[in-house]
Amino acid sequence: MRVLVTGGAGFIGSHFVRSLLQGMYPSHENTHVTVLDKLTYAGGRDNLPADDPRLTFVHGDICDRELLADLVPGHDALVHFAAESHVDRSVADAEPFLWANVVGTHRLLEQCRQHHVERVVHVSTDEVYGSIQNGSWTELYPMQPNNPYAASKAASDCMARSLHRSFGLDLSITRCSNNYGPRQHPEKIIPKFITRLLRGQDVTLHGDGSAVREWIHVDDHCRGISLVLDKGRPGEIYNIGGGVEMTNRELTRLLLELGGAGWDRVSYVADRVAQDQRYSLDRTKISEELGFEPEMGFREGLLGVFDWYRDNGEWWESRAQG
Ligand code: NAD
Repeated sequence: MRVLVTGGAGFIGSHFVRSLLQGMYPSHENTHVTVLDKLTYAGGRDNLPADDPRLTFVHGDICDRELLADLVPGHDALVHFAAESHVDRSVADAEPFLWANVVGTHRLLEQCRQHHVERVVHVSTDEVYGSIQNGSWTELYPMQPNNPYAASKAASDCMARSLHRSFGLDLSITRCSNNYGPRQHPEKIIPKFITRLLRGQDVTLHGDGSAVREWIHVDDHCRGISLVLDKGRPGEIYNIGGGVEMTNRELTRLLLELGGAGWDRVSYVADRVAQDQRYSLDRTKISEELGFEPEMGFREGLLGVFDWYRDNGEWWESRAQG
């Protein structure tokens, strides 16, 4: 089997590729992977093995129709991670998000349709649902995105659905909660706080820190995607929720504890515009249909991530900002 993985040099995509090549997903022991990645500030060739015979790396853009027309034929499946992914950047300038997430997704899926790719997984996010005060979102909830990143992902989900409904492309959509793990760009809250603590700097909390996020280890997310790839039903959406909900304040307390630092290291910055107050996914569907359950305990996972950043300064020092 040949699988095309877009965005495979980024945080989650590279974890998926490394896990697959390491034999973590049964039935993919002989799968060959092609990674297509533009290597934006968020992607790095150093996230992938340099010389695995089952990996081909292609440096390119999912908006490039000619490249896609050459590359897509011959692949049996696509797992589509490539996206602009940082909310704050989308608030500053939404256009790159529309190009990569909407136009790019459309061009990519259109090539998959034309070249009869047999199976597609479109990787999306819980942020498309908006914010929920009580209870949890099932896949039937309407999309009510509140920031340009979430809106562009919601639009990409609509394009993905339309390619299935209009042309029968065998495609499933996954919507996952906030990921954490090694190799996450230090612009995101967990690596940002860890690297700031490691450098002896303060951490900055948005607003009063009461926003609630649901967390999942990247290992669990990628295993969920592999199950959807192998056994998910076409046209269906699968929430992949980690089940660990906490306020950013609680998360900060845990990270301070791991870093041996006190609350005096926290400074406060203005809340994001349109900050979503709470995310919460109902994962009953993927659990009952595909037998998925998250396995990594949050404290254990967070400790592993803290250790990884402590031991891999050369990876993040060039990427860390401010
Ligand atoms: P990331 O920003 O770390 O990586 C994105 C990758 O896509 C990078 O390697 C980048 O170079 C590549 N890329 C961007 N634009 C491209 C283009 N036009 N053509 C080719 N490659 C391009 O993101 P991530 O956190 O790994 O997220 C991966 C996917 O998972 C995204 O679709 C995101 O929406 C989704 N997701 C992320 C989370 C999370 O918590 N990080 C949660 C749920 C879903």
